[in-house]
Amino acid sequence: MRFNALSIVVVCLLAQLCPAADQGETIRRFDFADCPAGEIPQGWSLRQGGDRGQVGVHEIGYAEGWKSIRVSAAKACYLEYSLPVKPGETYRVEAFCRQVGLGSSTIQINWHMANGRLYNYDGLNSSRFRPFDKRWNRAFLVAVVPRNVVNMKLVLCVENQKINTDTVWFSGISIVKPTSELYAPAPDQPAPLVEVDLDSGDYNLFTSNLETLHTLRMACVNHSDNVMDEPIAEWVTPASAPRYAKFLRDSGFNAVLTNGQRYLMSDSKDHKPYPDVLKGSLPFPELVENAAAFVKAFHDEGLKVYLHLTACAAPMEMREKRPDWMTVCVTDGRTKTIWGLQWLCFNNPEFRKEYLRRLGVLVEQSKCDGLMVDETSLMYETCGCGHCRDKFKRDTGITMPPEGQAWYRDLSNAVYRRYLQWRLKQYMDFNTEILANLRKHRPDGVLLSYYAVPHIPTAWVDHGISNELSATVGSTHGLETIVNYDKYWTLYIANMKLIRSAAEHGIASIFATRSDHSYNQMYYRWLLDLTQVSHRYWHWYVPEAMKRARVPLLHWETKNKNLLAGMYGGADTAVVISTRNNNLHRRPLGSINLQNSYFAVGETLTAASIPWKAVGDLDLDKPLTGKCKTLVALNLSLMSDAQAQNIRQFVADGGTLIAALDTSLYDEHGDRRRNFALADVLGCDFEAIVEQDGLLTINQPQRFLGGITGEFSSYEASVRVKPRYDGKVWGTINVDGRSMPGVVHNKFGKGQAVYFAGHVEPLIYFNELHAITVTPRPEGQSRDMAMVNLFTNLVKNTAEDRVQIDNLPACVVVETYRHDYNDKQGFMVCLFNGTGFFTEGRPQKESISYPDIRSQLPDKDKPIVIRLADSTATRVFAVSPDFRGRTELEMQRTDAGVSVKLPTFGNLIMIYFE
Ligand SMILES: [Zn+2]
Repeated sequence: MRFNALSIVVVCLLAQLCPAADQGETIRRFDFADCPAGEIPQGWSLRQGGDRGQVGVHEIGYAEGWKSIRVSAAKACYLEYSLPVKPGETYRVEAFCRQVGLGSSTIQINWHMANGRLYNYDGLNSSRFRPFDKRWNRAFLVAVVPRNVVNMKLVLCVENQKINTDTVWFSGISIVKPTSELYAPAPDQPAPLVEVDLDSGDYNLFTSNLETLHTLRMACVNHSDNVMDEPIAEWVTPASAPRYAKFLRDSGFNAVLTNGQRYLMSDSKDHKPYPDVLKGSLPFPELVENAAAFVKAFHDEGLKVYLHLTACAAPMEMREKRPDWMTVCVTDGRTKTIWGLQWLCFNNPEFRKEYLRRLGVLVEQSKCDGLMVDETSLMYETCGCGHCRDKFKRDTGITMPPEGQAWYRDLSNAVYRRYLQWRLKQYMDFNTEILANLRKHRPDGVLLSYYAVPHIPTAWVDHGISNELSATVGSTHGLETIVNYDKYWTLYIANMKLIRSAAEHGIASIFATRSDHSYNQMYYRWLLDLTQVSHRYWHWYVPEAMKRARVPLLHWETKNKNLLAGMYGGADTAVVISTRNNNLHRRPLGSINLQNSYFAVGETLTAASIPWKAVGDLDLDKPLTGKCKTLVALNLSLMSDAQAQNIRQFVADGGTLIAALDTSLYDEHGDRRRNFALADVLGCDFEAIVEQDGLLTINQPQRFLGGITGEFSSYEASVRVKPRYDGKVWGTINVDGRSMPGVVHNKFGKGQAVYFAGHVEPLIYFNELHAITVTPRPEGQSRDMAMVNLFTNLVKNTAEDRVQIDNLPACVVVETYRHDYNDKQGFMVCLFNGTGFFTEGRPQKESISYPDIRSQLPDKDKPIVIRLADSTATRVFAVSPDFRGRTELEMQRTDAGVSVKLPTFGNLIMIYFE
């Protein structure tokens, strides 16, 4: 049980961090020298399925005498090599790769158990090569074989190549057993235990749905008899449910989410196990009886029960039974299989009617409290069935182009853009109907929504859903996290803020879901969740010891439940992330696009201890004045006239707008405007797009920029603008010897705008962040710290956050919240000791540690001082998992507000101004 996910794999991308290749015992080395050109080398195999393009050995490799494996025009090509291994062994896998054109290339390690099944674990297992630069790059992975694993599969993955010249070469692949412990991460610093004195009154069950969601402590319960390699003695049955219910109640939960009735459309047991819940889904109507017994057992203990269902995903046998119900690919007219399941089209009136009928029966008879319904969207290239085509024509007046036409995924095509928006509406309509169906039988019933895979650049497009719509549908909103978020934890924070931005339009209760493999990991992740005032949906299938270990954490949440409810982002800086913009304008200028622009800004602010919040389309559609003091809207290309007016008014009322490139150059449908909608606010008019690198120079010191002057790394792309009378040019860009405005400052009304005529984000982006598109920055080159400083100064100086903290060590995460729950109003400042999770200035971690804060204080003889402006607080107290109970803090009242002294803190502290 020693091997936890954190110690499994270490990834390094930078060449200078790479050890010499001959350190250790070489188990395999592949130079492919003896393999004829064009062939697949012996021992390697191509995974079945997928459009793999051309693949085979090529004469030229990384070193003299080496050959390579070349892959071109591959939509999805996976070359695999299998090696028997033993748990606990350490391996280093290394490869060189060169890439031309589009596509992504990675090396990946998959683990397999004795039964041949994939061992699914929550850690990093792949390393992406740097794309675009046409040179040989090296990547390596260091991995410790997890328990129960007998086989390591090394996979060379190539995806998303488009044309024949999109090519990747792999060469010099080696598998080495390192002789030293050099590559294994340091062991985790053991997480402290959490101690809490729970009074009988703290744990009140039998509460309303709404109160339960506000103070959510939800356990996920599968009904299946096993999960991965973790044998579970028995299936949770109606007979055993009361015992489980009592155990969960005693553990501190107040709700369960059960998967036992996932497939409503299944009518028989005569089928292979279904993916996802395996044997957990009974045929209809047996599953209704089972669910009813289950719900009753948990209700008897005072817990709320939410049913986790699928809507459109269906077992494969549905294909034979109801071929006419299937979704149809827009591009090739075929039915679509996703994740080994068939997809049904909810625009098929027969299916929709039958599904909603069964749902009604389930809700009525089971007496469940709410639902979480997955797969309520038309995903990827669906749907182009007859019903969808008819409806699209009816709704929009536009005929959907026939199959085989190259309109799909072409964002320059107005029909495609229209289709994407139409599809979102279909999602919304279907969910609205599901909710109405639930409320018919349970007037106080709730829908739980969650958002997944936001790290995939096309997720928001392909999945046919949006974060905002999901949140609009659900009463509480969550995030299904992915493995890499653990290592790149500022990315996790940025994602939770995205979830919060949408959830605050509802009851502002958010949650995250992931499974933990060790107490250290669980504790660390729990702290991250607390910084975001996020609840968790706790997985049932974790090792038995973990179920006991998490009880104090749940009890801490129970004790402090009112502080984890009704919290709203309190930061005076807001970063815009617009789903609509990202859906309809996939490739803004430059290589960094979509949500990565948001992540670049957000993570930079988190790393600089600047509190910030996210605002999305739902916010932009409403008046923004009072929402924040500084609005960062880099590359917000698409904007409706109404949104532009909200931003204009925000600036006129005294706010600061920080914008860049083509912000407001397109209308809400993605059609280009002649000029920026916000030209008057920005103080400049649009002239032309310049798709060339340019060097930014600032000559005159400006107070808002912290007085920084000099040359910066080149802007990756720029826009030529003409300043208006009031627009002051703060910096210039030099493109091919020609100078043009680079930064324009404009006073507008009581506020101001700062416009960057080039692409700021690639310069401040943490390029190492895994699993999301990297920017083409030369190997080894880190962020442009001059730009990082300039940008953070600009944000800090313009926002002048109402919370100011003196004597704070670097790398402490600062979050602020406005509290409004039941009769309580207040303000909370949350400090998280992130000092152990920065590696050479990058927010990432190889292992968990919590260095002491006191020794890192800028002035060791002075306390940390937190000042809160405009506060009428009468007392201040602190709670923390680091100590029992509450600590009253002495409060000083000043002209500007109040302040408290904090001698030091441990791992996380919440300071509440009441
Ligand atoms: Zn359809």
